[in-house]
Amino acid sequence: MTCTETQEKLTRGEALSETERDHALSCAECGALAATCATLDAALAELVPNVPEGFADRVMASIAREVVARGAVHERATHTRWYERRWAGMLLSSAAALVAILNVARFVACVLIPAGSFGGAP
Ligand SMILES: [Zn+2]
Repeated sequence: MTCTETQEKLTRGEALSETERDHALSCAECGALAATCATLDAALAELVPNVPEGFADRVMASIAREVVARGAVHERATHTRWYERRWAGMLLSSAAALVAILNVARFVACVLIPAGSFGGAP
């Protein structure tokens, strides 16, 4: 039996053997740890009854309500108007890019090519 073993038993809350108890009473380190553990145990025992009745149930119920509310918000978000949906944005931006490319092609075909073929500067 060493100080480490005794202190491990104390921190785990296990019962000490006769020799370990005697050691904890005589050893300063183990005695201090035993006192700390006893104080902590007492504090925890005091804390537990202070949790209001049904506190965990109320917390879980409020979490459930929040989850339901978020689900409703998500539901509303998915039922948006067609132009607010992602595919509509993609479609519109693709159409805009296509129109821009066609405009550049029309400009090249109608303005730059005829001007160049007559030897003039575009
Ligand atoms: Zn010790």
